[in-house]
Amino acid sequence: MLEFYVRSKLRRGQLRECPAGEYVDGFAGWMRSAGYKRRPGQLRLRGAAHLGCWAAARGVPTDRISEAVLGAFVRHLASCSCPHAFQGRGRSHQEGGQLFVTHLRAVGVGLSSPTPATESVPPVLEQFSAWMRHHRGVRVSTLGNYLPLLHEFVVALGDDAVTYDAAGVRAFILARASRAGRGRAKSLVNAVRMFLRFLAVRGSCPADLAAAVPRIASWRLTALPRYLVADDIARLLATCNPDTTAGARDRAVMLLCVRLGLRAGDVRDLRLADVDWSRGALRVLGKGRCETWLPLPQEVGDAILHYLERFRPAISDDHVFLRVHAPLGPLPSSGPITKLVRDHFLYAFDLPPQDGEVCRLELRRFRHSNHDAVRIEDEREAIVLDEAKAQHAFVEGSCLVGVPGRHEGDDVDSTLAFRASFGLGVHYPVSS
Ligand SMILES: [Zn+2]
Repeated sequence: MLEFYVRSKLRRGQLRECPAGEYVDGFAGWMRSAGYKRRPGQLRLRGAAHLGCWAAARGVPTDRISEAVLGAFVRHLASCSCPHAFQGRGRSHQEGGQLFVTHLRAVGVGLSSPTPATESVPPVLEQFSAWMRHHRGVRVSTLGNYLPLLHEFVVALGDDAVTYDAAGVRAFILARASRAGRGRAKSLVNAVRMFLRFLAVRGSCPADLAAAVPRIASWRLTALPRYLVADDIARLLATCNPDTTAGARDRAVMLLCVRLGLRAGDVRDLRLADVDWSRGALRVLGKGRCETWLPLPQEVGDAILHYLERFRPAISDDHVFLRVHAPLGPLPSSGPITKLVRDHFLYAFDLPPQDGEVCRLELRRFRHSNHDAVRIEDEREAIVLDEAKAQHAFVEGSCLVGVPGRHEGDDVDSTLAFRASFGLGVHYPVSS
């Protein structure tokens, strides 16, 4: 419903990521059902966000804004010079703040623990704020996002940092991030990581505890399935029409990703000589240019052959996958591979277009759908494997795939090899 009041995507993002962010969608829906028109609703949303930012900068989380905090906010408006995007002195800010608190009460937020405006921030957080400003040059508005979250952290784990451990830190983040939007989850992870580093510098907690904080990228995928099951893969592949050049190529590309765990760059760099049709194997120069032979499953081999025979332009370049449109030739980078996988993925699962980073992560998840499914399901933070681990999984995966319906010396193989070279009119080595 926020879309009704705020048309700018950027502005909606700002609203959702401000300290009151997790409540703005609910607030917008509540105003809509109460009959607020677009402009009045917009102004009240701004006032609500202003209140949330202002309170957060004083260590009061949105769900603990009391009548007293609201009163202090109204007094603040006369001389507001807040550093954030929602600052302002108009009457609409007051109305927005008041209506927002009314809404919060209506949905049962903040009733249990009314907090006086004077409630003090724990001393350790005050010291953290000072440290962040002096040693890290962090802006007050950023601290305004961090402090309420860290306040909750200190309440949940206690103020004796000596007792903190990795399990406790992770449990807090998992629980807290599950009820926050993407932007807030990012703030949460950053805040906790910085806070633990600060504590480590002071010698209050183990130096490696900050490493226990999960990486933020995993939260970006929480709205999506965490790995692709067989049905998902079938659904994805079904988005390619094998009777067109692009469809035939894309299907082969996606099969290489999903069945063999190839990364976009591996697929882009694949040469005709890298396919050994007689052995049913595929040569990949992975990271570090180390040569690996992977078994080529029947389904994947068939898809590549279908593209090579019927659609690949017969030009002198020896890359397996070429551009669909002029100028014909190899793909300029791995980008188009990533993009095509992303586009099919979004289409198959009826998702809105996403930004580049999500696109990269989708391809990674796609790659690991065969090999890492169990691990990813069990450990959410394992979704984003670091490169070393990814390479390991890739090599491991090649052992797991197996070669269904393909054996050395099998007639099908030599036929395939023959047809491949014949269909292309290009000679390339077929090992005997
Ligand atoms: Zn202000």
